[in-house]
Amino acid sequence: MKILVINAGSSSLKYQLIDVDNGAVIAKGLCERIGIENSKLTYKPTGKEPFELVRNMKDHTDAIKLVLDALVDPVHGVIADMKEIDAVGHRVVHGGEKFNKSVVLTDDVIKAIEELSELAPLHNPANLMGIRACMAIMPTTPMVAVFDTAFHQTMPEKAFLYGLPYEAYTELKVRRYGFHGTSHAYVTGRALTFLDKPVDETKIITCHLGNGSSVSAVKGGKCIDTSMGFTPLEGLPMGTRCGDMDPAIVAYLMNKLGLDRAGVDNYMNKKSGMLGISGVSSDFRDLGEASKQGNKRAELALATFAYKVKKYIGSYAAALNGVDAIVFTAGVGENDRGMRAMIMENMEYLGVDFDFDYNMSAPRGEEIVISKPTSRVKVLVIPTDEEMMIAKDTANLVR
Ligand code: ADP
Repeated sequence: MKILVINAGSSSLKYQLIDVDNGAVIAKGLCERIGIENSKLTYKPTGKEPFELVRNMKDHTDAIKLVLDALVDPVHGVIADMKEIDAVGHRVVHGGEKFNKSVVLTDDVIKAIEELSELAPLHNPANLMGIRACMAIMPTTPMVAVFDTAFHQTMPEKAFLYGLPYEAYTELKVRRYGFHGTSHAYVTGRALTFLDKPVDETKIITCHLGNGSSVSAVKGGKCIDTSMGFTPLEGLPMGTRCGDMDPAIVAYLMNKLGLDRAGVDNYMNKKSGMLGISGVSSDFRDLGEASKQGNKRAELALATFAYKVKKYIGSYAAALNGVDAIVFTAGVGENDRGMRAMIMENMEYLGVDFDFDYNMSAPRGEEIVISKPTSRVKVLVIPTDEEMMIAKDTANLVR
């Protein structure tokens, strides 16, 4: 079964064509600068020559048309006809409380995603553009929505409530939702295969550390807490996001810096985190380099990040009453060995016997165990694969 996975942003669209029967990625790529001049399609078919095409794409419908043209191209194509695509799986950022799992897209679902745009004004409208474009061009192909928030819907009320008046939750929908759910769900599923225990008894902490980062506590395969909240701004400091802080700082900054609502939003989302602390970059590779060359603020940014991840692991071990596995995933978690080592220092109290030597030489791009065989807690690196998760969910729903 061939599934086209679409992740639509406001001016970009990532796609993968996946054969779920053998787990193969048939082709993948990206449309950039949609609606802007010099839009570009990048197309990488497995086993064939990749290409790039600079071509005006005035909207997402143009972008999807170009993607489909590339997929059926007589020279570079990977399928003979668009009809070979059995279904399309769309990543949707916010499913609110309405969606605790993936669903087949219907008019009602689209309406609900639209209504949830007030909670995710940057993301849901962009996701909808991708959905509508595909529906216009492939009207008979079944479509599925896979939500970033769905995996976290099992959080109990005590974990998702803020200490605000209860009406803020019931009337204004202010609560913690959590994001990166598809990734946390995927690595949880993989981590379970490393544990010799009935699923119901397992306790896993998943650390999705990338440009955006979040940590989740997963009991019996179900999420009971996660570090991102009402928006992806809460939790760890990230590439450019501030993460947890005293909420009173918002009003103080607005006053002191003369910022309006959009200004302070921009300050916390785009100017903070690793970039803000270091003054160097939001990229962990740049920070690693700068730190090696003696840049103290880059070093401080990395140390701050490691410290906060460590604190989340500690608090989630408390929430879970122990832990069987700690999982690292995403760009930093999968690749930044030095960061993993910093996070895992002094974790013996938890029953972790971390293999610091192996961690520094461990291969990349594979599922590996970086704790010692005697360690009570398994520490794992599991490359995330959100697209595969979306493709599988889509296939299961349309089968
Ligand atoms: P996104 O949230 O955009 O999906 P990713 O999960 O791709 O982000 O993670 C991007 C981050 O991963 C960047 O900060 C990048 O520096 C970091 N990263 C990628 N490869 C390495 C590496 N080899 N060493 C250290 N950091 C890395």
